[in-house]
Amino acid sequence: MTTTTAAQAAYVVASLLFILSLAGLSQHRTSRSGVVWGIAGMVIALAATIGLASRSITATGLVLIAVATAVGAGIGLWRARVVEMTGMPELIAVMHSFVGLAAALVGWNGYLDVDAELTGSLLRIHHAEVFLGVFIGAVTFTGSVVAYLKLAARIKSRPLMLPGRHALNLGALAAFAVLTVAFVARPHMGLLIAVTVLALALGAHLVASIGGGDMPVVVSMLNSYSGWAAAASGFLLANNLLIVTGALVGSSGAYLSYIMCKAMNRSFLSVIAGGFGGRPVTSGDDRDHGEHQEISAEDTAELLRDASSVIITPGYGMAVAQAQYPVAELARGLRDRGIEVRFGIHPVAGRLPGHMNVLLAEANVPYDIVLDMDEINDDFAATSVVLVIGANDTVNPAATDDPASPIAGMPVLHVWEAAHVVVFKRSMAVGYAGVQNPLFFRENSRMLFGDAKQRVEDILRSLDATDAPAVAMVGTAN
Ligand code: NDP
Repeated sequence: MTTTTAAQAAYVVASLLFILSLAGLSQHRTSRSGVVWGIAGMVIALAATIGLASRSITATGLVLIAVATAVGAGIGLWRARVVEMTGMPELIAVMHSFVGLAAALVGWNGYLDVDAELTGSLLRIHHAEVFLGVFIGAVTFTGSVVAYLKLAARIKSRPLMLPGRHALNLGALAAFAVLTVAFVARPHMGLLIAVTVLALALGAHLVASIGGGDMPVVVSMLNSYSGWAAAASGFLLANNLLIVTGALVGSSGAYLSYIMCKAMNRSFLSVIAGGFGGRPVTSGDDRDHGEHQEISAEDTAELLRDASSVIITPGYGMAVAQAQYPVAELARGLRDRGIEVRFGIHPVAGRLPGHMNVLLAEANVPYDIVLDMDEINDDFAATSVVLVIGANDTVNPAATDDPASPIAGMPVLHVWEAAHVVVFKRSMAVGYAGVQNPLFFRENSRMLFGDAKQRVEDILRSLDATDAPAVAMVGTAN
């Protein structure tokens, strides 16, 4: 078997492993094996690519590739190990920016180093690929950098509302089409520089004009763009695996964005066009919502002891507090007492699609009591107690009750329909979308202030303390 045939066979195997990986990642139960399939596919892909390249690369070149791979893998492993779950969206945005930058550089290399055998229409197709690769790569690069800056709160998450911003975006796309035709007809470095600058500006503007509350969709949209950027590089490098992998990432990212748009009641088309989520805040945070009422951990324990059913709705604050372990212990303890306990997960809770599911799986919460919003939303009315642990926007009734709210129309968890709601947070501060939450002022809501982990641990202690005398009495009776 020649090196090329062996490499192509390895590429087919790697592609299949990537498809298996995506299938595995689509469900909590199989997600760990999905990661393993993905790693196996990537190892095979790297080995086959280096094997293929070894035919035309000098020994020094191979050493340089090995060093680059080792340094890259080392940095990747280190960052992945030290990153907090709350910092994952930023890390992902940075990684997308690398894919975009790589695609743009591959495009530039394709222009500077043209295969002498390419002539006529094949050369024109090559130049079209160069232009497309540089364009998608540069849009992905700056879009991801701006997304990182917003997610890391290095710049304001408020949308940039330039006058005529949609016309600007459309104008940039029209200019790209004209430049492409000119470049394919007469390749010139000036045109490539022009499209690079245009795409860098467009990427930054597309994401800058998106409101902070709509960032979940942006993160998955950039994931999709990075896939298409990789596919464009695949065409330039004549690498089938890169084309297949890029298309897999591009299409699955686009589908995830579509699902997130549905979950947030946003228009998919307006996300692609940029500048959505920029509705002005007309529902002021300074409106008088009335008085909130507080509750202690001991009284919350009392409520829970008397409950027949409990739903826990976690949010970003549970991740910040790293409260998933005591929360899981609380769920176990309540279930041991014969109380029905379930978790209600909003699709954009936390800062990453699936954020809460990952945390709960880490704390060994059984999958069958972790339900999606659609599966649980009708059950709140028949629930004794809801524990809102570090969630805010995802349980905000203004989304359904106030058409002027910036999050109006976003489906939310109907926690307020339960008999009692206990909200765990540190203050009366607003959530990610910057909107006040009328839930906190409802008659059946109580605020349990403090760090979520400490408060849940207080409740566990309180439950244990009241159990202890009962155990002691049983002991005495015996
Ligand atoms: P929010 O971000 O709306 O609110 C989190 C709450 O947690 C805050 O009210 C905060 O209040 C509280 N909190 C923070 N730290 C602690 C702590 N240590 N202990 C107790 N409470 C704490 O959370 P949700 O999960 O409800 O909503 C997610 C938001 O993030 C949505 O707006 C979504 O659009 C957005 N988003 C989601 C992404 C995704 O893919 N899932 C990506 C990017 C954004 P306080 O400060 O008073 O403690």
